[in-house]
Amino acid sequence: MIYYVFPDGGRMPMIGLGTYGLRGEDGARCVLEALDMGYRHLDTAATYENEREVGRGMALSQVSREEIFLTTKVDREDLCYDRFIASCESSLERLNTDYVDLLLVHWPNREVPIEETLRAAQRLVEQGKARRFGVSNFIRPYLEEAVGADRLPIATNQVEYHPYLNQKGLLRYCLEKRILLTAYSPLGHGKGHVLNDPVLQEISQRIGRTVAQVALRWLLQKGIAVIPKSASRSRMAENLAAADFELEEGLAQRIEALEERKRLIDWWPGDFEKDPGAFE
Ligand code: NAP
Repeated sequence: MIYYVFPDGGRMPMIGLGTYGLRGEDGARCVLEALDMGYRHLDTAATYENEREVGRGMALSQVSREEIFLTTKVDREDLCYDRFIASCESSLERLNTDYVDLLLVHWPNREVPIEETLRAAQRLVEQGKARRFGVSNFIRPYLEEAVGADRLPIATNQVEYHPYLNQKGLLRYCLEKRILLTAYSPLGHGKGHVLNDPVLQEISQRIGRTVAQVALRWLLQKGIAVIPKSASRSRMAENLAAADFELEEGLAQRIEALEERKRLIDWWPGDFEKDPGAFE
């Protein structure tokens, strides 16, 4: 496994299991299978309505809690002080754990000053209920505001990132500020588009790795963490194996040159297409 080392020395596995849509008995089974095969990083959210299943999968597994890096997220409706704290506490209860390794603001909400959310996050970190704090879906101006508040470190910004949405400016800013960028939908949701891209397919054939592995490896080599979701044991294993090979610089550059602009998650609080920071 490849690890990201936070400025404070803590570590996060660069490949995690995305769990959106993994629900019910099947959801718990997928989490258990993932842990059994070597995943040590799980990504969930209050709104995924699967925290109990994630907790059950962890409880069934032989892997100890300390070995697992667990992320959950607070809904944008719950960003004011009291609700943020209550949301985290409810998540902990559903996950059946005393702490999460990373607590994220799921989406920005311009109606709540970020300073207020950061104060609540700071409290949770002080109480040991969240080891780290981060954000998700923050375009650069929002991220700058959170960084500028200088209340607590922003461990990561989790955003849509894949070969068809290469947000180079945002990545540059994150690297500069030592904020880990985490790619959600790293396979472009797995349907059409990214996985059918002719350049990725040609590279895949040339190096004997699957298209999904090529896409994930390209992200990892850019210093981006990935959280592909799969309900299939073989595809989970395939995705985890993206840690095990190198993509030659020349091949990575061909993906870099794709210059597509396809944002798959089309809900956004505001008119992001017109926001100058959105694709920067
Ligand atoms: P994704 O991981 O890019 O793609 C998942 C899809 O790809 C599934 O349909 C899966 O099908 C398929 N797949 C997985 N591995 C594959 C492989 N090796 N080859 C071919 N197909 C494969 O998309 P995502 O679920 O949208 O994103 C991943 C995770 O990011 C989510 O689960 C969630 O944890 C997180 N996320 C966060 C946000 C946010 O706002 N912060 C938004 C979206 C997602 P099978 O299950 O059948 O394998």
